[in-house]
Amino acid sequence: MARGSLAATALLGLCFVVPTASARTERPALTKPQAIAAVRAVVRAKASACGLRIVRITATRSGSGWHVAATTSGRTTGASRWSVVRKPAPLNPLARRIASGCPPTKPPPQPIPPPPLAPGAPATYTFGSGLSTAQQELVRRGLDAGARLYRSALGRELPELRAWAYTSLDELVAAYAANVPTSPENARALWSGGQVGHATPRQVWLGPAWFIAGRPSSDALKIAAHEAFHLLQYEVIGQRAMSVSGLDQVPQAGPWWLLEGAAEYFAYLAVVADGSTTFANVHAQWTSSARASTATLVTLSTLRGQRETPRPYDVYALATELLLRDRDPKLTFTYLEAIARGVEWHEAFSTTFGRSFEAFVAEFEAYRRG
Ligand SMILES: [Zn+2]
Repeated sequence: MARGSLAATALLGLCFVVPTASARTERPALTKPQAIAAVRAVVRAKASACGLRIVRITATRSGSGWHVAATTSGRTTGASRWSVVRKPAPLNPLARRIASGCPPTKPPPQPIPPPPLAPGAPATYTFGSGLSTAQQELVRRGLDAGARLYRSALGRELPELRAWAYTSLDELVAAYAANVPTSPENARALWSGGQVGHATPRQVWLGPAWFIAGRPSSDALKIAAHEAFHLLQYEVIGQRAMSVSGLDQVPQAGPWWLLEGAAEYFAYLAVVADGSTTFANVHAQWTSSARASTATLVTLSTLRGQRETPRPYDVYALATELLLRDRDPKLTFTYLEAIARGVEWHEAFSTTFGRSFEAFVAEFEAYRRG
């Protein structure tokens, strides 16, 4: 830069530098209009990129230079101060942003993508002719909710499965008979009695009752997830050990209430995780049903107990919740695995859950009345 020449005034970095020779005169090296013009040039050149415009520029003497304040408006409001002096001096933050072309003060906010949804059920679906898109979606959602909860809470993956859903009884009966397989008479007998859902190994079936008007979607989702849970049990111990040949038989896999209760309890947790209801709501419902019933867990160990008890699944779920309280939920399958190895269910129950079956029956009676 040429000493003593106003033409040597330059924007150096973030500041104006004036000729050192002028300082000896103890007068500002630039006139006030020149100082203002220099800053105005910077602001004009750079500030538009920031969406700013100049409202006012003023200059006050400061030693051998000028303090120039450019008041701007726009996305960022405020005054930007330049020191037009002999040596580079720091700009205030707004001036620094303008002089550098207004880079963002922080990285622009990136939209936070929702965490990828965990995989749902590995299911192949067959839908009856009457199902709407929304009904099909509800079926998928119920099985997906179950698959996700069973993975996260129990470390269990649903097996590859097929799912059938029908609003037509005739279509359902034909498909059920052909695919379970069983006789059309058996199929019709099962589904004509108001059966809502049913699980056979690696198969989930939802019938016309699942779709009845007025059924809350949270209830429908729970039932779908419940049937899917049975597939996990079948994988461990098989369907036969969970079945009975008479109303008063306790399954080889242990009390009816526990086999159904585990499915009911974890299915509800899946629906809560799905956001369709709250745990407080469902727990209040279980408690209300359990208090309204006099059937003990001994009675509810058989299919007859289920048939003779109002809202038995609520009682099952509450009992399962108490059984697993403060314990690892995976014990549900530890218990089944013991039976699958040949352990008698009373022994498997005591060993797995830390109290005898009889002790737990009494514990539950005290709990439900408490
Ligand atoms: Zn069930």
